[in-house]
Amino acid sequence: MSAGTQRVLGREPGAQLAPLPLLDDKVLAMIIGQNPLACILHALCAEIERHQPGLLCSVLLLEPDGVTLRSAAAPSLPEEYCGAIDGAKAGPCAGSCGTAIYRKQPVVVSDIATDPLWVAYRDLALSNGLRACWSTPITSQDGTMLGTFAIYYREARIPDGQHLQLIVHATHLAALAIERDRDKTQLRAAEDRYRTLVESLPAITYIAELGANGPWHYVSPQIQSILGFSPEDWLKDPSNWMNHIHPEDREIAFAAEREFQKTKELFKAEYRMHASDGRVLWFRDEGVLLQAADDRALLMQGVLYDITEHKRLEEQLRHSQKMEAVGQLAGGVAHDFNNLLMLIQAHNERLRGRLTAGDAAHQDTIEIEQAVTQAATLTHRLLAFSRRQLLQIQVLDLNVVLVETGRMLERLLVPNIELRVLPDASPQLIKADPGQLGQVILNLAVNARDAMPDGGRLTIQTRCVELSEARAASHGAIPPGTYTVLAVSDTGTGMCSEVQSHIFEPFFTTKKPGKGTGLGLAIVYGVVKQTGGWIAVNSKPDQGTTFEIYFPRAEQGAGYTIPKPDGPMASAARGTETILLVEDQRGIRELVHEFLKRKGYSVLCAADGNEALKIAHENADTIDLLVTDIIMPNMGGQELADRLTQARPRTKVLFMSGNPDQASLSGRLGDSPATVLQKPFPLEILLQEVRSILDR
Ligand code: ADP
Ligand code: MG
Repeated sequence: MSAGTQRVLGREPGAQLAPLPLLDDKVLAMIIGQNPLACILHALCAEIERHQPGLLCSVLLLEPDGVTLRSAAAPSLPEEYCGAIDGAKAGPCAGSCGTAIYRKQPVVVSDIATDPLWVAYRDLALSNGLRACWSTPITSQDGTMLGTFAIYYREARIPDGQHLQLIVHATHLAALAIERDRDKTQLRAAEDRYRTLVESLPAITYIAELGANGPWHYVSPQIQSILGFSPEDWLKDPSNWMNHIHPEDREIAFAAEREFQKTKELFKAEYRMHASDGRVLWFRDEGVLLQAADDRALLMQGVLYDITEHKRLEEQLRHSQKMEAVGQLAGGVAHDFNNLLMLIQAHNERLRGRLTAGDAAHQDTIEIEQAVTQAATLTHRLLAFSRRQLLQIQVLDLNVVLVETGRMLERLLVPNIELRVLPDASPQLIKADPGQLGQVILNLAVNARDAMPDGGRLTIQTRCVELSEARAASHGAIPPGTYTVLAVSDTGTGMCSEVQSHIFEPFFTTKKPGKGTGLGLAIVYGVVKQTGGWIAVNSKPDQGTTFEIYFPRAEQGAGYTIPKPDGPMASAARGTETILLVEDQRGIRELVHEFLKRKGYSVLCAADGNEALKIAHENADTIDLLVTDIIMPNMGGQELADRLTQARPRTKVLFMSGNPDQASLSGRLGDSPATVLQKPFPLEILLQEVRSILDR
């Protein structure tokens, strides 16, 4: 306070103030009624002025910067004056109000005409007829400056006791009103922040009464983009929630609801819902109890997360894991089985060699051989499924395979089925085994036939498809690019989704015993996987079925050759070269050993890779050919071949296997494709192969 003002503070005789009984009532009512701040402050000033003629009030609000003052209410001050001081800055010499903020205490100026604090505003005030100004800071409960409350007079004057009381009273009310307003603004901002958050989450949030048919009080707008309902429509009908849950999942949702009503701890359930366009989506629903203020119905608030994509990936993973496990099992069994068949076949051959054509037992050996061939076909099928079969992978035109297989199909189908074979106009090059591919078409066609007992139409076509990034992703985990599609459609019985989820499993069949093996589609699956392709099934009960197989377009590359069992037999396949024979199955080792020896070769024998290397090391003579099994304990055939040919580059290699995994062989023998004999093989084939490799 300036020295000049101090003197004049005190009670002025004859300036009695009337009490203001209505001030509190009026202003408090407005605060509670949530009136706009400007209206409340205006009413506060006007009420004081009404009871105190000659007195002029103003309220200035301090901006968050702590120095700028804004006119908030001044019912009777000249407009020109109010406009001019709006935006004034607080400071050590800034009129009564600016200085009061600066000093954080009341500033009483009894005569503007002489007081040095008014130097900057003196002319403005005097020209507007203002002579005295007493200003007091308005502060919040925690002491923050909110603004100023000022009383003006048109003549020089000092406040009396009642004035001082009035000032205390008015600043108190103003502080209350301003603080309330700030709280409200802050609350609104916080609310806006939460609303933005809630409404931009990729999930639906809701508030609903407890109970399966409890009315929903709020649902976030995402319900439109996720489920296709407007929030208004959804809230209208309390039964919407239950009605849109997939019928099979309603019990799950009910049970979770009942549990929640009991424990009131956490509502948690996963279920499917129908969107407005019929799509079925998976949701995880999690909710908590909202504390009700009174004893109205209990409310819960929760979030519905759309987990459809997650579920799809999970299912895909589960399925491929299962297929992998079954594949490994089948492959393992087939491997051991092939070794046994090899033994049976070789002993049978030897037996027949001792018999003459007229012998009664001769026919038996032929029967045994046929049974072995059939058994070998079965193991080959299992291997095809488990992706462990040796293949004649080559670049081929799918159209050619389709037309060839199509001719065969005509014989297979019944007359009331119309067959349409529609190869694409341009060649459809893919990399596959032609025999297996024919098998795929055949298996799919036979299934289509079985699905049309009363006749119908079977369409098989090829076409080229460009899969964009987005479409490839929607098809599962296949990379985008160009694919050759083989589509097999029928107008038959179709399948429900439950059957569809099992069809690729080996031995899954819905056919009568003796009618179906359940291996058809398992083989298709294995073959398609082997080519890097992918299968799409589209089927609904009574609406037919379409299988679409996506094959990657071909690139040229070296493959593996497998000798044709029905190739011409070399009669003079004998020889005198040295062969290192490596085989862990003793029976087979002895058999092959004896056989090759009889054909003139000198044979060294080993039970695994380590032993073979040792023998080679001890043997200074040339080893012309290594004949080795692929899968053996200690050291496998692959590594053995690599190490042996490094030390002896002129040694040639022939692999034998009951379970050759192609991938493990790829690229290991330089540019020339490795020759692999798949067990069981006739010994004559071995002989022929040995000769042709040695003569190469
Ligand atoms: P199988 O034909 O021996 O039953 P598959 O593996 O070939 O074994 O097929 C498995 C099952 O898939 C069939 O039993 C049948 O229920 C279903 N299925 C396959 N193809 C079709 C089709 N085109 N239409 C209807 N159902 C089919
Ligand atoms: Mg079948």
